[in-house]
Amino acid sequence: MNYPRRLRQLRQRLRRSNAVALLVTHLPNVRYLCGFSGSAGVLLVTPERSLLFTDNRYREQSAQEVREAEVVIPETGGVRPLLLAEMARLKGVIAFEAEHLSVALQEELFARRRGLAVRGWVERLRERKEPEEVAAIRRAVRLASRAFPRAVAHLRPGMSERGFAARLEYELRASGAEGLSFETIVASGWHGAHVHGRASQKAIEKGELVVIDYGVLLSGYVSDMTRTLHVGTPDRRTRAVYRAVLEAQLAAIAAVRPGVRCGEVDAAARNVLAKAGLGQYFQHSTGHGVGLEIHEAPRIAAQAKEKLQAGQVITIEPGVYIPGWGGVRIEDVVAVTERGAEVLTPTPKRLLHI
Ligand code: ZN
Ligand code: ZN
Repeated sequence: MNYPRRLRQLRQRLRRSNAVALLVTHLPNVRYLCGFSGSAGVLLVTPERSLLFTDNRYREQSAQEVREAEVVIPETGGVRPLLLAEMARLKGVIAFEAEHLSVALQEELFARRRGLAVRGWVERLRERKEPEEVAAIRRAVRLASRAFPRAVAHLRPGMSERGFAARLEYELRASGAEGLSFETIVASGWHGAHVHGRASQKAIEKGELVVIDYGVLLSGYVSDMTRTLHVGTPDRRTRAVYRAVLEAQLAAIAAVRPGVRCGEVDAAARNVLAKAGLGQYFQHSTGHGVGLEIHEAPRIAAQAKEKLQAGQVITIEPGVYIPGWGGVRIEDVVAVTERGAEVLTPTPKRLLHI
């Protein structure tokens, strides 16, 4: 990971503002800038220095992980007095992450000095991934994909959604996942029409579609994939809806390349579903960026003006949700390359029935 380059870019941003430092309080941003993966720490970046303030619990970990920042750990007491003392040395305005600083901490740190609320400075840098980051996402995606057939082999009618989620999560953990990137979604039959139906105690019955959406964390990077399968032989309508969603997903992937507006990718999926008479049942956006977090920029949404750039890694996940009937969603992780797109998710997309 190229921490020096990241800090250099952040300092360029700093110089274009009227602030003399940025206080980074969002942990994924701290990790991105200096490698620290602990769960408590703030990073102060000035034009000359970067200082990571953390506590005794992270002495060894920070010594191992952090190269591009000086680590500051108090011998006794909390981190705040040291941070405040360091901030007091800086003459001028200190920028802070408006979306990631509690009002309480803001009051404490900025009681006697001016702060500049900024948004997305580090997130914007994070959008274009370094090759090493794409490789890390690819590893997470592959690990998650490999677990899928193993978990599906255990799926039987009558099993609860939660029971199946537990089996899937077991397979993920046993394959080496650090954790889950979000709460596993298993939504069967009518429940599948709820876009974010968390796994419930509902039994998965014969004749139902099952939407399975899950992801892992590996080396700090996330995966995200959805497959929809059918219990028993699918009827004509099920096959037609599935085919339309798959066609929409492939059309959106085909639209991905640098310079294309995110809204155009979204429209590619939406048009296919509209033509199939299913447009009204697709009510979320087509995708989102992934990286250190599960929802990052860019958003692949209707009318989104932002243009895709090589290095971004996004999901493509159109779906159809028919109340009382069920849902179908198909989601892959896609890297935007110089020439177009590379689908990182290897799991097949034909309608699987068990
Ligand atoms: Zn997902
Ligand atoms: Zn997603």
